[in-house]
Amino acid sequence: MKVNLFINNEDVTTEHYDEVKDPGRLSETAGYIAKGDASHIDQAVQAAQQAFLSWRQTSLEERMSILLESAEEIEKNASSIASVTAKENGILLSRTVDEVKAGLMEMRNMIELAPSAFQQQIIEDESGWVSVVKRPMGVIACIVPWNAPIILTLQKITPILLAGNTIVVKPSPTASMGVVAILRMMAGSFPPGVINVVLGGGDVGSALTSHPLVRKISFTGGGSTAVAIMKSAAETLKGVHFELGGNDPAIVLDDADLNEVVPKIVEGAFRRTGQFCFAIKRVYIPYDMYDEFYEKACELTDAYKIGHQLNKAATMGPINNQLQYVRISELIKRLEDSGVNLVKLGKRLEPENWENGYYLQPVIVRDVDPNAEIVTCEQFGPVLPLIPYHTEEEVIRMANNTEFGLGSSIWSSDFDRALGVANQIEAGMTFINGHGQTSLGSKHIPFGGVKQSGIGREKSIEVFNEFIEYHGINYHKKQS
Ligand code: NAD
Repeated sequence: MKVNLFINNEDVTTEHYDEVKDPGRLSETAGYIAKGDASHIDQAVQAAQQAFLSWRQTSLEERMSILLESAEEIEKNASSIASVTAKENGILLSRTVDEVKAGLMEMRNMIELAPSAFQQQIIEDESGWVSVVKRPMGVIACIVPWNAPIILTLQKITPILLAGNTIVVKPSPTASMGVVAILRMMAGSFPPGVINVVLGGGDVGSALTSHPLVRKISFTGGGSTAVAIMKSAAETLKGVHFELGGNDPAIVLDDADLNEVVPKIVEGAFRRTGQFCFAIKRVYIPYDMYDEFYEKACELTDAYKIGHQLNKAATMGPINNQLQYVRISELIKRLEDSGVNLVKLGKRLEPENWENGYYLQPVIVRDVDPNAEIVTCEQFGPVLPLIPYHTEEEVIRMANNTEFGLGSSIWSSDFDRALGVANQIEAGMTFINGHGQTSLGSKHIPFGGVKQSGIGREKSIEVFNEFIEYHGINYHKKQS
C-alpha cells in the first residue's frame, strides 16, 4: 500500500516514501507513506486558505449535512479502515473496530450539538442594538498522534469544519494510512481545499505550525512536542489548542467491592497496551485492602494473551513504535535494577513471533514509593504501579501531586462519598466507578486536561468556542 499526500482533493506524490513496519511483525511492511516537506505544507495551507473564502459562506445546515454524509461514507468502509489502522499502529483489530464506531458517535454528537452552539445572540435596549456572531477563524492545523488516530482525528476535525474553518491535517508517521483513508473519503463530500493532508514527521509538523496563514493549531500528542509548537506559534501569534498526556490516578476507597472494581481498573490500565492518554497510570489502595487488590490484579493481568494485533485470540497487542518500546523497556529495566517488587505477567500467544514485534508483558509494580519515577511519569505502556495509603486526605494529596491533570477515577460503593473526593481532584475529568466516559459523558463532558495535560477542550458543546472568533456589531440608536 502506497499513500500519497492529499491537497485540494488531489493526490500529490513526493520524491521519498517511508516504509511503515507492522509493529507486531517487523519482518512485514504495513505500507509506504509519502514524505512531505515545507513546500507541500505551503501548497496545502494555500489551498485551505483559498477554500476558506467560500467555505466560510456556507450555512451551518449545509456543513452539518456534508459531515453527516461523510459519517455515512466512513461507516460503509469501517471495516477496511480498521484493518489498515490496526496493521500499522499495532492496536488490536477488535479495539480499532470499536474506535471507528466511537469516532462516528463523536462526529454525530457534535453535529447534533452544533445548532445550539452557533445561535446568533441579539440584544437590544433603547440606546442600541447588539449582535454577537461566532465566525470561523480560517485555516486550522490539526496534528494527531498514533495511539488512537481515527477517533482523535474525527473528534478534532468535526467541530473545526462545522464552525466553517478549513484544515490541514498532519497525522503521525506511524499511523497515517487509516487517517488518510478517512480524510480522502470525507473530502469527496467537501469542496476542494477544505480538507488537506500532508504526511511526515516533526519537520513537516513544524513547517505547518509556523506557516503564517495558519490561524490556530489543534494538537494532540506529547508535552515536549507541545512546548515546541507553542514556541513556533508565538512567532505569528497563533492560538493553540492542546490535548496532551496524563498520569491518571485511580483511587480505591475502603468501601469499594474489589470483585467489581479490580477487573475494571486492570482494563482501564492495560487496554490498548496502556497506550492511551487517559489510561489509569497509578492506583491508590487502602493498606488493609492492598494485598487482596494485588492478588486479584495479578490474576487478571496474567490472563492477557499477548499477540499480533490481527490475531483474534490476542487480548493485548504490541507497542506502536521502536522509540516507545525502548523507552518503556528501559523504564522496566530501571525498576528491576532498583530492586522494587514487580511481576511480568500475561501469556505469549505467538512465542515464535515474540522477537519479531514490539511485544512487552504487562507489569504490576507493588510497594512502590509514591514519588518513584514509575508513579510520577506518563509510562504510556503496560506498567502499573500500586500505591498503598492510610487516609483520604493523604490520597487526595498524592493524587494531586503532579503536573498532569487529564483523567482520574474514584472507586467506592458510596456515591456521595466518591463525589466528595472527586470534587477535590485536580483534573479535567473524574470518573466514578469506571475509567472513561459513558455515552452521556462522551456527549456532554468537555474532554481534556488541566495543568500540563492540555489547553482547551474537545467534544461537548464547549469545543465550538475553541475554533471561532466572536464578531460583535453594535448599532447606536438615535436618542429622541
Ligand atoms: P508526539 O508528540 O511525539 O507526536 C504527535 C504528533 O506531533 C505527530 O504527528 C508528530 O509527527 C507531530 N510532531 C512531532 N514533532 C513536532 C513538531 N516539532 N512540530 C509539530 N508537530 C510535531 O506524540 P505521540 O508519541 O505521537 O503520542 C503520544 C502522546 O500523545 C502521549 O503523551 C499521549 O498522552 C498523548 N495523547 C494525548 C491525548 C489527549 O487527548 N489528551 C490523546 C492521545 C494521545
